[in-house]
Amino acid sequence: MTDVFVALGANLSNPKKQILRAIDALQHLPDSKLIACSPQYSSAPMGPQDQPDYVNAVAQLQTTLSPHQLLDELQRIELEQGRVRKDERWGPRTLDLDLLLYGQQVIQDERLTVPHYGMTQRAFVLIPLYDIAPALILPDGRQLAELVAACDSSTLFRLPD
Ligand code: ATP
Ligand code: CA
Ligand code: CA
Ligand code: CA
Repeated sequence: MTDVFVALGANLSNPKKQILRAIDALQHLPDSKLIACSPQYSSAPMGPQDQPDYVNAVAQLQTTLSPHQLLDELQRIELEQGRVRKDERWGPRTLDLDLLLYGQQVIQDERLTVPHYGMTQRAFVLIPLYDIAPALILPDGRQLAELVAACDSSTLFRLPD
């Protein structure tokens, strides 16, 4: 079993419900167990500003799926929840599932970069991750707590449970 962390984001079609539905889907993944789930946050969009705020959360799983099998499952869940792939980078979407960490593995190929390249700077990832794994250390030795202290969380707000 490997510990993995997945970032969830949504900003269309009742984003809070999309996140809850995605967590339910993660709970039903094969050969996997949902260990923890952060509170939900709202965040201002990255990139194009003509779109609604996001709802974000982070989930922890234990799995025996390979990293690529897990990515297949995450992309299947995105599609099942109406994700439409568009050309616009960081455009609005019903659901985005990013594989943040797969144990302490470093993966770099055409489909997968792990740790996720954006996670060390994005408050909407770092802060919910910190909620469920405050002692986490990244494969490069950096402490999550230090990254949290350094990130800009000025447009991140915790939503009521
Ligand atoms: P960003 O990656 O900056 O958060 P995004 O989530 O909007 O942007 P997508 O369009 O969802 O980007 O994904 C583009 C591609 O990224 C996917 O097709 C996938 O193959 C690749 N990818 C690489 N590493 C990862 C990862 N760790 N988790 C999810 N997808 C990844
Ligand atoms: Ca636009
Ligand atoms: Ca993303
Ligand atoms: Ca993505």
